[in-house]
Amino acid sequence: MAGYFRAEGIVLKSRDYGETDLLLTILTPHHGKVEAIAKGVRKSKSSLRSGTQQLCRSRFLFYAGKSLATVTQCEVQSIFAPLRSDLQLLAYAFYLVEIADVVVMPGQINRAMYYLLKEGLEALGAARPSLVARAFEARTLKIMGLEPRLDRCASCDGMLELKGKVTVAPAAGGAICSRCRGQKPPEYQVVPGSIKIWQQLNHINWRHLQRLRLSPYFDKELGEIMPAFLEYYLDRKLKSRALINEIGGVTDDGTGKNRSAARALRN
Ligand SMILES: [Zn+2]
Repeated sequence: MAGYFRAEGIVLKSRDYGETDLLLTILTPHHGKVEAIAKGVRKSKSSLRSGTQQLCRSRFLFYAGKSLATVTQCEVQSIFAPLRSDLQLLAYAFYLVEIADVVVMPGQINRAMYYLLKEGLEALGAARPSLVARAFEARTLKIMGLEPRLDRCASCDGMLELKGKVTVAPAAGGAICSRCRGQKPPEYQVVPGSIKIWQQLNHINWRHLQRLRLSPYFDKELGEIMPAFLEYYLDRKLKSRALINEIGGVTDDGTGKNRSAARALRN
C-alpha cells in the first residue's frame, strides 16, 4: 500500500541508519507499530529532529513505501519533559515502552495499548513511579485478556484462605487455594494485603493512583510478583526491569554509573 498517511504516535525505538538517517519504531493507535525511516534527521538542521526522538509523542505524516515507511513531516505533541531530567523516571519510562513494544505484535492494531502507554508516561511525572509501573502491568494484563483471578481460586473456584500467605500462579491464572498448590509452577507466596492492592490496581484511575499509599514491603513484593506474571505470559524477560533495579531509588549521583545505565537503556 503506497501513499501518504497521517498518524499520531509515540517513538518506541530509534536506531542510527546509514550516515544521517534514523530507523524508528513508532506505536500508533490506528496503524499499529510503524517502522519508518527519518531521512537526514541526524543533520543539525533537520526539521524532523525534535519530533523523532525516542519517547516523543508526535503527529506524523508518513509515506508508505514498498517495505519501510518514511517520515515526511512531524509535529511534536509531548516530549514527556519530567521523564527526561530524572534517571529513575527515565528507566521506568523505558520499562513501559518495552512492555508496549513486546505486547503489540508487528501488523497488529492495539489502540488500548497505545492509550495505556500515553497515559502511563504522563502518570510517571505525577505519581510514584513504582506504582505507575504496577498499574501499567495490571492494565496490560487486562488488555491481553489475562487479568488474574484474585477473589477465589483461579483453578477450582474454591474459597481462598486469607490467613498467612496466599499462593499465586500465572499458569493457573491468579490466586490458588491450598488444594490446588503444586500443580502449575511457578508459584509465588504473597501476603493477603498485596492481593488487595493488586485488585485495587486493576481498577484505579491514574488520578487516584497518587493517593494510594504503599508500604515498602508491598512495594517490593508486588514489584517482584506482578512483573513475573507479565514475563510469564510474554514468555520473555523484560530487560529494562533489571536496569530499574540497578538504578534503584537513586537519581544521578554524579559518579557516571547511572549515566552508563541510561545509555544502556537506550541501546
Ligand atoms: Zn483450588
